[in-house]
Amino acid sequence: MKDVYLVIGGSGFLGRHIVQQLVDRGDNVSVFDIVQRNDDVPFYSGDISDQEQVATALRRSGTTCIIHTASPPAALNDPALYWKVNVDGTKAVIAAAVECNVRKLVYTSSAGVAFNGADLTDIDERLPPPEQPMDAYNESKAKGEEAVIEANGKGNLLTVALRPAGIFGPGDRQVMAGLYRVFQDNKTHFQIGDNTNMFDWTYVGNVAYAHLLAADKLEVPSLAPPLSTVLTEKEGQTE
Ligand code: NAD
Repeated sequence: MKDVYLVIGGSGFLGRHIVQQLVDRGDNVSVFDIVQRNDDVPFYSGDISDQEQVATALRRSGTTCIIHTASPPAALNDPALYWKVNVDGTKAVIAAAVECNVRKLVYTSSAGVAFNGADLTDIDERLPPPEQPMDAYNESKAKGEEAVIEANGKGNLLTVALRPAGIFGPGDRQVMAGLYRVFQDNKTHFQIGDNTNMFDWTYVGNVAYAHLLAADKLEVPSLAPPLSTVLTEKEGQTE
């Protein structure tokens, strides 16, 4: 059975690429966001911190798979807003998903949730968030991620969280805009560290595609024995 998708934060930079890729492969997709930037797909206006608004959109659209990319931008000095949207809002999305019998939830976390201010090399998703969070944004993203992972198996719900690092590409309104402002203000003569700093960047189309792949793979593991075992038993052989 084909999934029906609701992209939460689907008016944003990453969300719009996810929506476009779903449309391009012929999927049924709607957007839930506080702002509308695309008339081509059904749109539900709402705030994720309101469970009822999310549940209404889920019921009306017949969603079976939520892709939740919504967050305030990273550089705000507003811890209360981060907590409201990324922690309480994500919990409201989970509660609405369970209430509406949704099968899948893919959450856009961030590589920043594991950052502790020191160099991190050869790490993977097993690295937990640091005890002392870097800032309110990363702390709220980590708490949102934790809630999503804990919700795996609640009701009919299967969940997965992805941790992209910096995202670049068409439609970006944060990274290039910030760099361009620095350039316009003539503040180009500065250096952070000793010029050996490294940072991961991923093209937005690839991050979007990772969300589609994660959704596709998020299926209940088959309880049937592997095919080779079945064949062996049928042939009367034991191994
Ligand atoms: P964006 O600001 O372009 O998009 C976020 C969208 O969420 C916006 O359309 C916004 O209106 C919506 N939104 C915000 N609060 C909402 C609320 N309360 N209810 C409903 N919708 C709400 O951001 P982006 O760069 O596309 O980032 C998408 C996701 O990827 C975020 O979760 C972010 O934390 C994560 N992320 C981004 C980067 C990056 O470099 N851009 C890196 C790592 C992780």
